[in-house]
Amino acid sequence: MIPPAFDYHAPRSVADAIKLLGDLGSDAKLLAGGHSLLPMMKLRFAQPAHLIDLNRIDALRGIREDGGTVVIGAMTVENELIASSVLAAKVPLLAEAAKQIADPQVRNRGTIGGDIAHGDPGNDHPAIAIALDATFVLQGPKGTRQVAAGGFFHGTYMTEMAEDEILTEIRVPAFAPKTGYAYEKLKRKTGDWATAAAAVVLRIDGGKVSHARIALTNVAPTALRAADAEAALLGKPLSDTTIADAAAKAMAICDPAEDLRGDREYKTAMAGQMVKRALAKAAARCK
Ligand SMILES: Cc1cc2nc3c(=O)[nH]c(=O)nc-3n(C[C@H](O)[C@H](O)[C@H](O)COP(=O)(O)OP(=O)(O)OC[C@H]3O[C@@H](n4cnc5c(N)ncnc54)[C@H](O)[C@@H]3O)c2cc1C
Repeated sequence: MIPPAFDYHAPRSVADAIKLLGDLGSDAKLLAGGHSLLPMMKLRFAQPAHLIDLNRIDALRGIREDGGTVVIGAMTVENELIASSVLAAKVPLLAEAAKQIADPQVRNRGTIGGDIAHGDPGNDHPAIAIALDATFVLQGPKGTRQVAAGGFFHGTYMTEMAEDEILTEIRVPAFAPKTGYAYEKLKRKTGDWATAAAAVVLRIDGGKVSHARIALTNVAPTALRAADAEAALLGKPLSDTTIADAAAKAMAICDPAEDLRGDREYKTAMAGQMVKRALAKAAARCK
């Protein structure tokens, strides 16, 4: 299908993009990789009169270190995450998980910022960002603010970001030594969204869990942080029993929609399985 007609704008700076957003109001949409927005326009679910293309703003691309934090420009594409030596050394979960997103064509154009800003519970970056304790930098006419990933996702396609703001950076704390990690994703076929997936970041000190983050993809209207599951692990050794308890607590917060990927019971059960697998893999990497 052909999308409805729109005017095209290609600013060269974040300031110019924010000015355009303010001037054009709710008739305008930001364009990043286009792999979520353009399908929605073709289906006429979105009919913006103006597209503001962020692709010519160099300042929004790239991966750099800022002290103990890794800073990722919102327009950085999935393949750049996968190829990044900084991420491989400092936040390997992100590089590894990006390989599980969509297919090579989508990963060439799709951006981490677009994946997060879209607010789709099926997208993988929201849960990964929550597990990583990431912070999102939002820039708008009133200035810049930072929002924790855990408080950013309000509902399906609804986020903390205002209509006149741009997501400019994703800031992620570098892993402490001996941090274990995993993103376990069940999908029907290559390139599919998750039936259910779990992101885990884990540290074990003296045989007991000292840090646990568990977040879930596509089993509720937003990505979920499984806080009760995390709390159930803290201070305890990781065993079949504690892993099963954490998985049960993660399943208890699932509220998936039934669709072609499965019914509610199946998706909830698969979320539990993904938590078990991710915890076991992360534990093996805590060395
Ligand atoms: C076949 C296929 C399979 C896919 N499979 C997966 C998958 O398995 N996992 C997954 O996570 N995703 C998947 N996707 C989605 C893909 O990752 C998209 O690229 C992503 O959801 C959106 O990123 P984008 O850069 O393409 O953004 P766009 O489509 O350009 O934009 C998406 C939305 O975000 C807004 N936006 C974009 N950038 C910003 C910004 N910097 N600040 C504020 N708002 C912004 C836009 O205005 C728009 O509303 C798939 C897509 C396709 C086509």
